[in-house]
Amino acid sequence: MSKKACCAGLLCSLWLVAWAVASDRVQFRVGAAAVEITPFGQNADWDGGISSSGVWGERFTDKNGNGRWDLGEPFEDDSANTSLDRSADQKYDGIYLAGFGNDRLATGKHDDLWARALILEYGGTRIAIVSVDLLGYYSDAKYYGAAEVRRLLDPKLGIQEVLIASTHNHEGPDTVGVWGVDPLHDGKYPRYLKFVDHEIAKAITQAAQSAQAARMRLGRTDPEHSPSLAGLQTRTEGRPPQFFDEEMRVMQFVGIADEWKGKNIATIVNWNTHPESMEDENTILTSDFPHTVRESLETKYGGTAIYFSGDLGAVEIVGDGGQGTRTRFDGQDFPMVKDDKGKSVSFARTEAIGRDLAKAAVQALDQALWSAVSGIEVKKAPLAVPMDNEGYVVLMQKGVLNALPMPTIGEVPKVSTWVYAITFGDAQLLTVPGELFPEVLYGVARHRRSDCPVADTRRPAEPAVWERMRRKYRFILGLTPDEMGYIVPGYDFLPPTLDVEHGGLKEAADLCKAKGVPNHYHETNSASSQMARAWACIASGLLDSKMPSSPACKGIKYEPVGTSKP
Ligand SMILES: [Zn+2]
Repeated sequence: MSKKACCAGLLCSLWLVAWAVASDRVQFRVGAAAVEITPFGQNADWDGGISSSGVWGERFTDKNGNGRWDLGEPFEDDSANTSLDRSADQKYDGIYLAGFGNDRLATGKHDDLWARALILEYGGTRIAIVSVDLLGYYSDAKYYGAAEVRRLLDPKLGIQEVLIASTHNHEGPDTVGVWGVDPLHDGKYPRYLKFVDHEIAKAITQAAQSAQAARMRLGRTDPEHSPSLAGLQTRTEGRPPQFFDEEMRVMQFVGIADEWKGKNIATIVNWNTHPESMEDENTILTSDFPHTVRESLETKYGGTAIYFSGDLGAVEIVGDGGQGTRTRFDGQDFPMVKDDKGKSVSFARTEAIGRDLAKAAVQALDQALWSAVSGIEVKKAPLAVPMDNEGYVVLMQKGVLNALPMPTIGEVPKVSTWVYAITFGDAQLLTVPGELFPEVLYGVARHRRSDCPVADTRRPAEPAVWERMRRKYRFILGLTPDEMGYIVPGYDFLPPTLDVEHGGLKEAADLCKAKGVPNHYHETNSASSQMARAWACIASGLLDSKMPSSPACKGIKYEPVGTSKP
Protein backbone atom coordinates (compact mmCIF):
# COMPACT_ATOMS: atom_id res chain seq x y z
CA MET A 1 0.00 0.00 0.00
CA SER A 2 1.40 3.37 -0.98
CA LYS A 3 1.37 6.36 1.31
CA LYS A 4 -0.70 8.35 -1.15
CA ALA A 5 -3.45 5.75 -1.48
CA CYS A 6 -3.62 5.44 2.28
CA CYS A 7 -3.86 9.12 3.04
CA ALA A 8 -6.57 9.64 0.48
CA GLY A 9 -8.88 7.79 2.83
CA LEU A 10 -10.33 8.53 6.21
CA LEU A 11 -8.97 5.27 7.58
CA CYS A 12 -5.47 6.66 7.36
CA SER A 13 -5.95 8.71 10.48
CA LEU A 14 -7.13 5.62 12.32
CA TRP A 15 -4.18 3.48 11.38
CA LEU A 16 -0.83 3.40 12.89
CA VAL A 17 1.10 4.10 9.73
CA ALA A 18 4.63 5.15 10.23
CA TRP A 19 6.47 5.88 7.05
CA ALA A 20 9.31 7.88 8.41
CA VAL A 21 11.05 10.19 5.95
CA ALA A 22 14.44 8.89 4.95
CA SER A 23 17.20 11.14 6.17
CA ASP A 24 20.73 10.78 7.42
CA ARG A 25 19.54 10.70 11.00
CA VAL A 26 16.72 8.19 10.68
CA GLN A 27 18.00 4.64 10.80
CA PHE A 28 16.60 1.17 11.09
CA ARG A 29 17.59 -0.05 14.53
CA VAL A 30 17.25 -3.51 16.02
CA GLY A 31 17.76 -4.90 19.51
CA ALA A 32 17.43 -8.43 20.88
CA ALA A 33 17.64 -10.05 24.30
CA ALA A 34 16.90 -13.42 25.90
CA VAL A 35 15.80 -13.85 29.51
CA GLU A 36 15.19 -17.24 31.17
CA ILE A 37 11.68 -18.05 32.37
CA THR A 38 12.42 -21.61 33.49
CA PRO A 39 10.52 -22.42 36.70
CA PHE A 40 13.48 -24.28 38.11
CA GLY A 41 16.31 -23.74 40.60
CA GLN A 42 17.60 -20.43 41.94
CA ASN A 43 16.64 -17.23 40.17
CA ALA A 44 17.25 -13.73 41.56
CA ASP A 45 13.77 -12.66 40.45
CA TRP A 46 11.96 -15.57 42.14
CA ASP A 47 11.09 -15.63 45.82
CA GLY A 48 8.39 -18.31 45.69
CA GLY A 49 8.71 -21.96 46.61
CA ILE A 50 11.32 -24.35 45.16
CA SER A 51 10.73 -28.07 45.68
CA SER A 52 13.43 -30.66 46.37
CA SER A 53 13.52 -31.58 42.66
CA GLY A 54 14.34 -27.95 41.87
CA VAL A 55 10.97 -27.32 40.17
CA TRP A 56 9.05 -24.31 41.50
CA GLY A 57 5.83 -24.77 43.41
CA GLU A 58 4.14 -24.55 46.77
CA ARG A 59 6.07 -26.44 49.45
CA PHE A 60 4.69 -29.93 50.09
CA THR A 61 5.46 -33.11 52.03
CA ASP A 62 6.55 -35.75 49.54
CA LYS A 63 5.13 -38.70 51.46
CA ASN A 64 5.74 -41.27 48.71
CA GLY A 65 9.08 -39.73 47.70
CA ASN A 66 8.30 -39.55 43.98
CA GLY A 67 9.54 -35.98 43.55
CA ARG A 68 6.14 -34.41 42.89
CA TRP A 69 3.03 -33.40 44.79
CA ASP A 70 0.26 -36.02 44.72
CA LEU A 71 -3.38 -35.58 45.66
CA GLY A 72 -3.68 -35.93 49.46
CA GLU A 73 -0.10 -34.88 50.28
CA PRO A 74 -0.03 -31.88 52.65
CA PHE A 75 1.08 -28.55 51.13
CA GLU A 76 1.53 -24.93 52.17
CA ASP A 77 -1.22 -22.92 50.44
CA ASP A 78 0.72 -19.75 49.47
CA SER A 79 -1.64 -16.78 49.92
CA ALA A 80 0.24 -14.86 47.20
CA ASN A 81 -1.42 -17.16 44.65
CA THR A 82 -4.90 -16.80 46.13
CA SER A 83 -4.62 -13.02 46.24
CA LEU A 84 -3.94 -13.03 42.50
CA ASP A 85 -6.55 -15.62 41.60
CA ARG A 86 -9.30 -16.85 43.90
CA SER A 87 -9.42 -20.23 42.12
CA ALA A 88 -5.98 -20.92 43.69
CA ASP A 89 -7.54 -21.20 47.17
CA GLN A 90 -6.77 -24.61 48.73
CA LYS A 91 -5.35 -25.77 45.41
CA TYR A 92 -1.78 -27.02 44.95
CA ASP A 93 0.03 -24.47 42.78
CA GLY A 94 3.01 -25.80 40.91
CA ILE A 95 4.28 -26.47 37.41
CA TYR A 96 1.63 -28.54 35.66
CA LEU A 97 2.92 -29.21 32.15
CA ALA A 98 0.61 -27.99 29.41
CA GLY A 99 -0.79 -29.49 26.27
CA PHE A 100 -1.53 -33.17 26.85
CA GLY A 101 -3.38 -34.82 29.76
CA ASN A 102 -4.08 -33.50 33.26
CA ASP A 103 -1.89 -33.81 36.36
CA ARG A 104 1.51 -33.88 34.58
CA LEU A 105 3.65 -32.05 37.13
CA ALA A 106 7.23 -31.19 36.14
CA THR A 107 9.98 -33.10 37.96
CA GLY A 108 13.18 -31.70 36.47
CA LYS A 109 14.82 -29.56 33.80
CA HIS A 110 16.67 -30.40 30.59
CA ASP A 111 17.09 -26.96 29.02
CA ASP A 112 15.78 -23.47 29.71
CA LEU A 113 12.54 -21.85 28.68
CA TRP A 114 12.96 -18.29 27.43
CA ALA A 115 11.39 -14.94 26.74
CA ARG A 116 13.26 -13.72 23.63
CA ALA A 117 12.54 -10.15 22.66
CA LEU A 118 13.11 -8.34 19.38
CA ILE A 119 12.88 -4.56 19.12
CA LEU A 120 12.33 -3.01 15.70
CA GLU A 121 12.74 0.72 15.40
CA TYR A 122 12.54 3.28 12.63
CA GLY A 123 11.92 6.99 13.00
CA GLY A 124 9.26 7.39 15.68
CA THR A 125 8.12 3.76 15.52
CA ARG A 126 9.39 1.29 18.11
CA ILE A 127 7.75 -2.11 18.58
CA ALA A 128 8.55 -5.19 20.65
CA ILE A 129 7.90 -8.73 19.47
CA VAL A 130 8.59 -11.43 22.05
CA SER A 131 8.65 -15.20 21.66
CA VAL A 132 8.01 -17.26 24.81
CA ASP A 133 8.50 -21.03 25.22
CA LEU A 134 4.97 -21.46 26.51
CA LEU A 135 1.83 -23.14 25.24
CA GLY A 136 0.05 -19.82 24.93
CA TYR A 137 -0.12 -16.32 26.37
CA TYR A 138 -2.70 -13.55 26.36
CA SER A 139 -2.97 -9.90 25.47
CA ASP A 140 -4.96 -9.24 28.63
CA ALA A 141 -5.57 -12.08 31.08
CA LYS A 142 -6.74 -10.17 34.16
CA TYR A 143 -3.63 -10.48 36.35
CA TYR A 144 -1.07 -11.47 33.67
CA GLY A 145 -0.36 -11.07 29.97
CA ALA A 146 0.79 -8.33 27.59
CA ALA A 147 -1.29 -5.60 29.26
CA GLU A 148 0.58 -6.27 32.54
CA VAL A 149 3.91 -6.35 30.70
CA ARG A 150 3.13 -2.92 29.24
CA ARG A 151 2.48 -1.55 32.73
CA LEU A 152 5.89 -2.83 33.85
CA LEU A 153 7.76 -1.06 31.04
CA ASP A 154 9.32 2.34 31.51
CA PRO A 155 7.28 4.73 29.32
CA LYS A 156 10.56 6.44 28.43
CA LEU A 157 11.41 3.41 26.29
CA GLY A 158 8.66 4.63 23.94
CA ILE A 159 7.49 1.16 22.93
CA GLN A 160 4.19 1.43 21.08
CA GLU A 161 3.32 -2.22 20.64
CA VAL A 162 4.11 -5.29 22.71
CA LEU A 163 3.34 -8.49 20.82
CA ILE A 164 3.83 -11.76 22.68
CA ALA A 165 4.05 -14.90 20.55
CA SER A 166 4.06 -18.38 22.04
CA THR A 167 6.01 -21.23 20.48
CA HIS A 168 3.18 -23.49 21.76
CA ASN A 169 5.63 -25.58 23.75
CA HIS A 170 3.95 -28.69 25.20
CA GLU A 171 6.78 -29.39 27.69
CA GLY A 172 6.42 -26.22 29.75
CA PRO A 173 4.05 -24.76 32.38
CA ASP A 174 0.28 -24.45 32.00
CA THR A 175 -0.43 -20.81 31.14
CA VAL A 176 -4.03 -21.44 30.05
CA GLY A 177 -5.49 -23.36 33.01
CA VAL A 178 -6.89 -26.59 31.61
CA TRP A 179 -4.04 -28.96 32.62
CA GLY A 180 -4.39 -28.93 36.41
CA VAL A 181 -4.86 -31.95 38.66
CA ASP A 182 -8.15 -32.65 36.84
CA PRO A 183 -10.11 -30.90 34.09
CA LEU A 184 -12.13 -28.80 36.54
CA HIS A 185 -9.16 -27.39 38.49
CA ASP A 186 -7.05 -24.52 37.19
CA GLY A 187 -3.48 -25.65 36.36
CA LYS A 188 -2.01 -22.15 36.32
CA TYR A 189 0.49 -21.03 38.95
CA PRO A 190 -0.41 -17.35 39.45
CA ARG A 191 2.85 -16.35 41.09
CA TYR A 192 4.83 -17.89 38.26
CA LEU A 193 2.76 -16.01 35.65
CA LYS A 194 3.56 -12.72 37.42
CA PHE A 195 7.23 -13.74 37.24
CA VAL A 196 6.88 -14.42 33.48
CA ASP A 197 5.41 -10.94 32.93
CA HIS A 198 8.31 -9.44 34.84
CA GLU A 199 10.92 -11.36 32.82
CA ILE A 200 9.23 -10.50 29.50
CA ALA A 201 9.41 -6.82 30.48
CA LYS A 202 13.06 -7.32 31.39
CA ALA A 203 13.82 -8.91 27.99
CA ILE A 204 12.06 -6.04 26.16
CA THR A 205 13.95 -3.45 28.22
CA GLN A 206 17.32 -5.09 27.55
CA ALA A 207 16.54 -5.40 23.85
CA ALA A 208 15.45 -1.75 23.63
CA GLN A 209 18.52 -0.52 25.49
CA SER A 210 20.85 -2.51 23.24
CA ALA A 211 19.20 -1.51 19.92
CA GLN A 212 21.74 -0.80 17.18
CA ALA A 213 21.69 0.49 13.63
CA ALA A 214 21.23 -2.63 11.54
CA ARG A 215 20.66 -4.07 8.12
CA MET A 216 18.38 -6.99 7.41
CA ARG A 217 18.57 -10.06 5.22
CA LEU A 218 15.65 -12.34 4.43
CA GLY A 219 15.42 -15.91 3.25
CA ARG A 220 13.22 -18.93 2.97
CA THR A 221 13.44 -22.59 2.13
CA ASP A 222 11.32 -25.74 1.89
CA PRO A 223 11.82 -29.52 1.76
CA GLU A 224 12.65 -29.38 -1.95
CA HIS A 225 15.60 -27.04 -1.35
CA SER A 226 16.43 -28.32 2.13
CA PRO A 227 15.83 -32.09 2.29
CA SER A 228 16.44 -32.06 6.06
CA LEU A 229 12.93 -30.55 6.34
CA ALA A 230 11.20 -33.38 4.47
CA GLY A 231 8.75 -35.62 6.31
CA LEU A 232 8.86 -33.72 9.60
CA GLN A 233 5.23 -32.56 9.56
CA THR A 234 2.17 -34.77 10.06
CA ARG A 235 -1.55 -34.11 10.56
CA THR A 236 -3.17 -35.01 13.91
CA GLU A 237 -4.35 -38.64 13.62
CA GLY A 238 -4.07 -38.16 9.85
CA ARG A 239 -6.92 -35.60 9.72
CA PRO A 240 -7.47 -34.69 6.06
CA PRO A 241 -6.39 -32.92 3.92
CA GLN A 242 -2.70 -33.82 3.99
CA PHE A 243 -1.81 -30.17 3.54
CA PHE A 244 1.06 -28.35 5.27
CA ASP A 245 2.81 -25.03 5.22
CA GLU A 246 6.23 -26.46 4.41
CA GLU A 247 8.07 -23.17 4.14
CA MET A 248 10.71 -22.17 6.68
CA ARG A 249 11.38 -18.43 6.82
CA VAL A 250 14.43 -16.67 8.20
CA MET A 251 15.46 -13.14 9.01
CA GLN A 252 18.80 -11.85 10.18
CA PHE A 253 19.80 -8.46 11.57
CA VAL A 254 23.44 -7.41 11.36
CA GLY A 255 24.97 -4.32 13.00
CA ILE A 256 26.38 -1.58 10.73
CA ALA A 257 28.16 0.83 13.06
CA ASP A 258 30.77 1.06 15.78
CA GLU A 259 31.50 -2.06 17.81
CA TRP A 260 28.46 -3.81 16.30
CA LYS A 261 29.67 -3.40 12.72
CA GLY A 262 29.32 -6.74 10.92
CA LYS A 263 28.15 -8.51 14.07
CA ASN A 264 24.96 -10.52 14.16
CA ILE A 265 22.28 -9.04 16.41
CA ALA A 266 19.48 -11.57 15.89
CA THR A 267 18.45 -14.55 13.76
CA ILE A 268 14.74 -15.25 13.38
CA VAL A 269 13.32 -18.63 12.37
CA ASN A 270 9.65 -19.17 11.53
CA TRP A 271 8.34 -22.71 11.02
CA ASN A 272 5.08 -24.54 11.34
CA THR A 273 4.50 -27.52 13.61
CA HIS A 274 3.69 -28.28 17.25
CA PRO A 275 6.86 -28.27 19.40
CA GLU A 276 6.00 -31.47 21.23
CA SER A 277 8.53 -34.04 20.11
CA MET A 278 9.05 -35.04 23.78
CA GLU A 279 5.37 -36.05 23.85
CA ASP A 280 2.96 -36.64 26.70
CA GLU A 281 4.89 -38.82 29.15
CA ASN A 282 7.85 -36.48 29.61
CA THR A 283 7.94 -34.51 32.89
CA ILE A 284 11.29 -32.75 32.35
CA LEU A 285 11.08 -29.05 31.48
CA THR A 286 12.36 -28.25 28.00
CA SER A 287 11.59 -25.88 25.14
CA ASP A 288 11.64 -28.96 22.84
CA PHE A 289 13.26 -28.78 19.38
CA PRO A 290 13.30 -24.94 19.20
CA HIS A 291 16.00 -25.13 21.89
CA THR A 292 18.42 -26.91 19.57
CA VAL A 293 17.46 -24.76 16.58
CA ARG A 294 18.36 -21.61 18.53
CA GLU A 295 21.48 -23.05 20.14
CA SER A 296 22.83 -24.22 16.75
CA LEU A 297 22.21 -20.83 15.12
CA GLU A 298 23.72 -18.87 18.00
CA THR A 299 26.84 -21.06 17.87
CA LYS A 300 27.20 -20.39 14.15
CA TYR A 301 26.25 -16.71 13.91
CA GLY A 302 26.38 -15.27 17.44
CA GLY A 303 23.65 -12.87 18.54
CA THR A 304 20.23 -13.95 19.77
CA ALA A 305 18.23 -16.60 17.93
CA ILE A 306 14.44 -16.36 18.18
CA TYR A 307 12.02 -19.08 17.08
CA PHE A 308 8.44 -18.28 16.07
CA SER A 309 5.78 -20.91 15.40
CA GLY A 310 3.55 -20.15 12.43
CA ASP A 311 0.43 -21.87 11.07
CA LEU A 312 0.64 -25.11 13.04
CA GLY A 313 -3.05 -26.00 13.47
CA ALA A 314 -3.55 -29.80 13.15
CA VAL A 315 0.18 -30.08 12.34
CA GLU A 316 2.33 -32.26 14.56
CA ILE A 317 5.96 -33.29 14.54
CA VAL A 318 6.76 -36.67 12.97
CA GLY A 319 6.34 -39.62 15.34
CA ASP A 320 3.74 -37.81 17.41
CA GLY A 321 0.77 -40.13 17.94
CA GLY A 322 2.53 -42.66 15.68
CA GLN A 323 2.07 -40.43 12.62
CA GLY A 324 4.65 -40.19 9.83
CA THR A 325 7.33 -42.56 8.63
CA ARG A 326 10.61 -40.67 8.89
CA THR A 327 12.93 -42.01 11.60
CA ARG A 328 16.36 -40.66 10.55
CA PHE A 329 17.41 -37.23 11.83
CA ASP A 330 20.80 -35.55 11.50
CA GLY A 331 22.29 -38.81 10.23
CA GLN A 332 21.09 -40.95 13.13
CA ASP A 333 18.31 -43.54 13.30
CA PHE A 334 15.58 -43.20 15.89
CA PRO A 335 13.20 -46.07 15.17
CA MET A 336 9.74 -45.92 16.72
CA VAL A 337 9.09 -48.76 19.13
CA LYS A 338 5.44 -49.75 18.99
CA ASP A 339 3.53 -48.94 22.18
CA ASP A 340 6.70 -47.85 23.97
CA LYS A 341 7.04 -44.08 24.14
CA GLY A 342 9.95 -44.32 26.55
CA LYS A 343 12.00 -46.02 23.83
CA SER A 344 10.63 -44.01 20.90
CA VAL A 345 10.91 -40.50 22.28
CA SER A 346 14.15 -39.05 23.65
CA PHE A 347 16.08 -35.83 24.07
CA ALA A 348 18.64 -37.20 21.60
CA ARG A 349 15.92 -37.53 18.97
CA THR A 350 14.46 -34.10 19.74
CA GLU A 351 17.91 -32.51 19.45
CA ALA A 352 18.62 -34.29 16.15
CA ILE A 353 15.34 -32.90 14.78
CA GLY A 354 16.42 -29.46 16.01
CA ARG A 355 19.78 -29.77 14.20
CA ASP A 356 18.00 -30.77 10.96
CA LEU A 357 15.82 -27.66 11.28
CA ALA A 358 18.86 -25.48 11.99
CA LYS A 359 20.57 -26.95 8.89
CA ALA A 360 17.63 -25.77 6.78
CA ALA A 361 17.73 -22.33 8.42
CA VAL A 362 21.44 -22.02 7.54
CA GLN A 363 20.68 -22.98 3.92
CA ALA A 364 17.92 -20.34 3.83
CA LEU A 365 20.36 -17.76 5.22
CA ASP A 366 23.03 -18.75 2.65
CA GLN A 367 20.55 -17.74 -0.06
CA ALA A 368 19.15 -14.76 1.85
CA LEU A 369 18.93 -11.31 0.25
CA TRP A 370 19.64 -7.96 1.87
CA SER A 371 16.58 -5.79 2.10
CA ALA A 372 16.66 -2.05 2.80
CA VAL A 373 14.24 -0.79 5.43
CA SER A 374 12.83 2.73 5.05
CA GLY A 375 9.90 2.52 7.45
CA ILE A 376 7.92 0.20 9.68
CA GLU A 377 4.21 0.04 9.01
CA VAL A 378 2.01 -1.38 11.77
CA LYS A 379 -1.65 -2.05 11.06
CA LYS A 380 -4.04 -3.76 13.43
CA ALA A 381 -7.71 -4.51 13.85
CA PRO A 382 -9.76 -6.06 16.64
CA LEU A 383 -11.32 -9.49 16.14
CA ALA A 384 -14.50 -10.26 18.10
CA VAL A 385 -16.72 -13.30 17.57
CA PRO A 386 -19.20 -15.15 19.78
CA MET A 387 -17.58 -17.86 21.88
CA ASP A 388 -19.72 -20.84 20.97
CA ASN A 389 -17.60 -23.57 22.54
CA GLU A 390 -19.86 -24.77 25.38
CA GLY A 391 -16.98 -26.53 27.12
CA TYR A 392 -15.02 -23.25 27.30
CA VAL A 393 -18.03 -21.51 28.85
CA VAL A 394 -18.26 -24.21 31.55
CA LEU A 395 -14.52 -23.96 32.25
CA MET A 396 -14.76 -20.16 32.46
CA GLN A 397 -17.52 -20.51 35.07
CA LYS A 398 -15.35 -22.95 37.05
CA GLY A 399 -12.49 -20.42 37.15
CA VAL A 400 -10.27 -22.69 35.03
CA LEU A 401 -10.23 -20.69 31.79
CA ASN A 402 -10.31 -17.42 33.70
CA ALA A 403 -7.78 -15.77 31.41
CA LEU A 404 -10.62 -15.21 28.97
CA PRO A 405 -13.00 -12.30 29.63
CA MET A 406 -16.03 -13.49 31.63
CA PRO A 407 -19.40 -12.42 30.23
CA THR A 408 -21.82 -10.68 32.55
CA ILE A 409 -25.16 -12.43 33.17
CA GLY A 410 -27.34 -12.48 30.06
CA GLU A 411 -24.41 -11.54 27.80
CA VAL A 412 -23.15 -13.89 25.08
CA PRO A 413 -19.51 -14.73 25.82
CA LYS A 414 -17.15 -13.29 23.26
CA VAL A 415 -13.68 -14.01 21.93
CA SER A 416 -11.83 -10.68 21.80
CA THR A 417 -8.39 -10.36 20.30
CA TRP A 418 -6.36 -8.59 17.58
CA VAL A 419 -4.85 -9.18 14.17
CA TYR A 420 -1.64 -7.34 13.18
CA ALA A 421 0.06 -6.83 9.82
CA ILE A 422 3.56 -5.38 10.10
CA THR A 423 5.60 -4.45 7.03
CA PHE A 424 9.25 -3.35 6.75
CA GLY A 425 11.51 -3.71 3.70
CA ASP A 426 10.65 -6.89 1.82
CA ALA A 427 9.28 -8.51 4.98
CA GLN A 428 5.67 -8.79 6.03
CA LEU A 429 4.56 -10.26 9.38
CA LEU A 430 1.01 -11.37 9.98
CA THR A 431 -0.26 -12.46 13.40
CA VAL A 432 -2.76 -15.22 14.17
CA PRO A 433 -4.45 -15.40 17.61
CA GLY A 434 -4.37 -19.18 17.83
CA GLU A 435 -3.49 -22.37 15.99
CA LEU A 436 -4.25 -21.76 12.35
CA PHE A 437 -4.95 -24.67 10.02
CA PRO A 438 -2.52 -24.03 7.11
CA GLU A 439 -5.27 -24.43 4.51
CA VAL A 440 -7.00 -21.34 5.92
CA LEU A 441 -3.86 -19.28 5.28
CA TYR A 442 -3.44 -20.57 1.71
CA GLY A 443 -7.17 -20.66 0.95
CA VAL A 444 -9.66 -23.52 1.31
CA ALA A 445 -11.13 -22.90 -2.14
CA ARG A 446 -8.01 -24.67 -3.44
CA HIS A 447 -6.67 -26.54 -0.45
CA ARG A 448 -9.43 -28.66 1.03
CA ARG A 449 -10.22 -32.28 1.67
CA SER A 450 -11.75 -34.19 -1.23
CA ASP A 451 -12.02 -37.57 0.49
CA CYS A 452 -15.54 -37.08 1.80
CA PRO A 453 -17.90 -34.71 -0.09
CA VAL A 454 -20.79 -35.46 2.31
CA ALA A 455 -18.77 -34.09 5.24
CA ASP A 456 -18.68 -30.59 3.70
CA THR A 457 -20.77 -28.23 5.88
CA ARG A 458 -21.26 -25.91 2.86
CA ARG A 459 -20.15 -22.88 4.83
CA PRO A 460 -18.53 -20.45 2.38
CA ALA A 461 -14.77 -20.66 1.81
CA GLU A 462 -12.70 -18.17 3.80
CA PRO A 463 -10.72 -15.79 1.57
CA ALA A 464 -7.12 -16.86 0.88
CA VAL A 465 -4.72 -14.71 2.87
CA TRP A 466 -1.23 -15.76 1.73
CA GLU A 467 -1.65 -14.34 -1.80
CA ARG A 468 -2.65 -11.00 -0.27
CA MET A 469 0.68 -10.70 1.53
CA ARG A 470 2.46 -8.74 -1.16
CA ARG A 471 6.00 -8.71 0.17
CA LYS A 472 8.49 -11.27 -1.04
CA TYR A 473 9.15 -12.69 2.43
CA ARG A 474 6.11 -13.49 4.52
CA PHE A 475 6.21 -14.46 8.16
CA ILE A 476 3.34 -15.90 10.20
CA LEU A 477 3.38 -15.31 13.95
CA GLY A 478 1.04 -17.96 15.32
CA LEU A 479 -0.47 -17.78 18.82
CA THR A 480 0.02 -13.98 18.78
CA PRO A 481 -1.17 -11.98 20.71
CA ASP A 482 -3.51 -14.65 22.15
CA GLU A 483 -4.08 -18.40 22.19
CA MET A 484 -7.75 -18.90 21.27
CA GLY A 485 -7.25 -22.53 20.25
CA TYR A 486 -7.57 -24.17 16.86
CA ILE A 487 -8.68 -22.12 13.88
CA VAL A 488 -10.57 -24.68 11.81
CA PRO A 489 -12.00 -23.90 8.33
CA GLY A 490 -15.79 -23.54 8.29
CA TYR A 491 -16.42 -26.15 5.57
CA ASP A 492 -14.98 -28.84 7.88
CA PHE A 493 -15.99 -27.51 11.31
CA LEU A 494 -18.15 -30.00 13.23
CA PRO A 495 -18.97 -28.70 16.71
CA PRO A 496 -18.47 -31.02 19.69
CA THR A 497 -21.34 -31.79 22.04
CA LEU A 498 -21.40 -31.28 25.77
CA ASP A 499 -20.79 -34.57 27.55
CA VAL A 500 -22.65 -33.91 30.81
CA GLU A 501 -21.82 -37.32 32.29
CA HIS A 502 -18.02 -36.88 31.97
CA GLY A 503 -18.00 -33.10 32.40
CA GLY A 504 -16.26 -32.54 29.09
CA LEU A 505 -16.80 -32.27 25.36
CA LYS A 506 -17.49 -35.12 23.01
CA GLU A 507 -15.69 -34.93 19.66
CA ALA A 508 -18.00 -34.99 16.64
CA ALA A 509 -17.61 -38.04 14.42
CA ASP A 510 -16.60 -37.45 10.81
CA LEU A 511 -19.14 -38.51 8.21
CA CYS A 512 -16.45 -40.71 6.70
CA LYS A 513 -15.41 -42.28 10.00
CA ALA A 514 -15.97 -45.71 8.44
CA LYS A 515 -13.13 -44.93 6.00
CA GLY A 516 -10.79 -44.29 8.92
CA VAL A 517 -11.13 -40.50 9.17
CA PRO A 518 -10.56 -39.43 12.81
CA ASN A 519 -13.10 -37.68 15.03
CA HIS A 520 -13.08 -33.87 15.01
CA TYR A 521 -10.77 -33.35 18.00
CA HIS A 522 -9.61 -29.81 17.13
CA GLU A 523 -13.09 -28.31 17.44
CA THR A 524 -13.11 -29.23 21.15
CA ASN A 525 -10.13 -26.88 21.56
CA SER A 526 -11.44 -24.00 19.49
CA ALA A 527 -12.93 -20.93 21.17
CA SER A 528 -15.30 -20.22 18.30
CA SER A 529 -16.57 -21.84 15.11
CA GLN A 530 -16.24 -18.37 13.52
CA MET A 531 -12.53 -17.85 14.15
CA ALA A 532 -11.36 -18.95 10.68
CA ARG A 533 -13.61 -16.61 8.72
CA ALA A 534 -13.13 -13.72 11.14
CA TRP A 535 -9.34 -14.05 11.02
CA ALA A 536 -9.13 -14.57 7.24
CA CYS A 537 -11.47 -11.64 6.51
CA ILE A 538 -9.81 -9.22 8.93
CA ALA A 539 -6.29 -10.23 7.88
CA SER A 540 -7.29 -9.78 4.22
CA GLY A 541 -8.76 -6.39 5.15
CA LEU A 542 -5.49 -5.25 6.71
CA LEU A 543 -3.49 -6.47 3.70
CA ASP A 544 -5.83 -5.05 1.03
CA SER A 545 -6.97 -1.99 3.02
CA LYS A 546 -10.52 -3.22 2.57
CA MET A 547 -12.53 -6.31 3.48
CA PRO A 548 -13.00 -8.83 0.68
CA SER A 549 -16.52 -9.13 -0.72
CA SER A 550 -16.45 -12.89 -0.08
CA PRO A 551 -19.69 -14.39 1.35
CA ALA A 552 -17.58 -15.73 4.24
CA CYS A 553 -16.95 -12.14 5.37
CA LYS A 554 -20.60 -11.21 5.71
CA GLY A 555 -21.31 -9.89 9.20
CA ILE A 556 -17.64 -9.73 10.25
CA LYS A 557 -16.71 -6.34 11.69
CA TYR A 558 -13.58 -4.74 10.25
CA GLU A 559 -12.48 -1.71 12.23
CA PRO A 560 -8.76 -1.01 11.87
CA VAL A 561 -7.34 1.25 14.57
CA GLY A 562 -4.08 2.78 15.70
CA THR A 563 -2.79 3.26 19.21
CA SER A 564 0.16 5.52 18.72
CA LYS A 565 1.56 7.98 16.23
CA PRO A 566 4.97 7.89 14.63
ZN1 LIG B 1 -2.08 -27.24 19.81
